[in-house]
Amino acid sequence: MQILKKSLFILLTGGILSGCSQTDQNDQPLSYDPPGSTNTKDKQISPQTREVVGFENAGVWFSNDFEGGRANAVRQIDADKYEIDILPENAPVNNSAWYAFQVWSREARRVQVTLNYSDGNHRYQPKIRTNDTGWKRLAEESWHIDSARTQATLSLDVSPDTLLVSGQELITSSVFEAWTDSLVALPYVHKSVIAESREGRPLSKLTISNVPNARRFVLVISRQHPPEVSGSFALMAFIERLCSDTDLAQRFRDQFTVVAVPLMNPDGVDNGHWRHNRAGVDLNRDWLNFNQPETRAVSQMFLGLKDNPENKVYFGIDFHSTQEDVFYTVTKDFETFPDRFSDRWLARLGEKLPDYHINEDPSGVESPTSKSWFYRTFNVDAVTYEVGDEVERPRIRMIATNAADAMMEVLLNEVE
Ligand SMILES: [Zn+2]
Repeated sequence: MQILKKSLFILLTGGILSGCSQTDQNDQPLSYDPPGSTNTKDKQISPQTREVVGFENAGVWFSNDFEGGRANAVRQIDADKYEIDILPENAPVNNSAWYAFQVWSREARRVQVTLNYSDGNHRYQPKIRTNDTGWKRLAEESWHIDSARTQATLSLDVSPDTLLVSGQELITSSVFEAWTDSLVALPYVHKSVIAESREGRPLSKLTISNVPNARRFVLVISRQHPPEVSGSFALMAFIERLCSDTDLAQRFRDQFTVVAVPLMNPDGVDNGHWRHNRAGVDLNRDWLNFNQPETRAVSQMFLGLKDNPENKVYFGIDFHSTQEDVFYTVTKDFETFPDRFSDRWLARLGEKLPDYHINEDPSGVESPTSKSWFYRTFNVDAVTYEVGDEVERPRIRMIATNAADAMMEVLLNEVE
């Protein structure tokens, strides 16, 4: 049934929009993964040149020189038409073509910018931001894609104010640092650096609990895959709810400790990668072999919980993005502790949001993903929480907030 569903999905989408989801090894023929993705030894990547490219004759400039930037080459066709090559960090790669560039001009004018994708297809609806405005979607009538989805052409109103154009909002390492720093102002949130990424960026951990000896644990990770920004919005809303001053959250923090690594792949995010870390590897295929420093450090940190036999892990959750909301759970016939927690959690979420279709997709635990590792290591129920790429941001926040409440309620029922 599951295979049938996946083949139907691939037929319907033409196999164009590859999800980020885990794929069990026995599903290989219909895998969303490109060949070699489960080989997590270091691969060669092609770093993009960070630069400002200017066209004096038209007075138009482009830049990829910022966190999250991705624009590999810019060409002028005429004064109002430009092309930008969008390439992955290495290929083959999951079909999640990320782009982000700045553009400005001497005088206000409208320019046409065509994104030329290699090794992938257009996936993310363009988002724009100026110095004076927050993020918004580029109006539908202002862009189109070709039938093969290998090009997207955007009409952009440019001016001396820098216009930022990006596949999703830029939620990069500095945004995560600012966000976690704001949480640390709360007395029950602690932040520490557990390791550094290949390029020396911190892998930061949040520990959330009212009491130092709450030995029941919930483990949270996010953003193994750089473009999966909608998953980060869900993670932030989820964590903020756990840190809130509601009666429920306070009771939860009296009993449980949350250990979270919100940004697993800071190098990939800041370098504008489509999928991989600095070594060209999909981190969420490295939870068997641990060839990469990020997965190694985070798994070792979680494994340290086993040093104290009184510690007990109750749940593991990993936030991602794909075409639609999906909860990838553990196959129903496995025993977990607490038993079938995900069933009760999602049922509670359904009670809270009766109009929300809970799209659950259980699968096995052989895959080299974090979800499977959480189960194999701690015998817990674990979930890959996938958020649709283009779900309205307030809706992502609303659902994730309710998901946090549902989790806290069900876990407290276990222990109170
Ligand atoms: Zn993912």
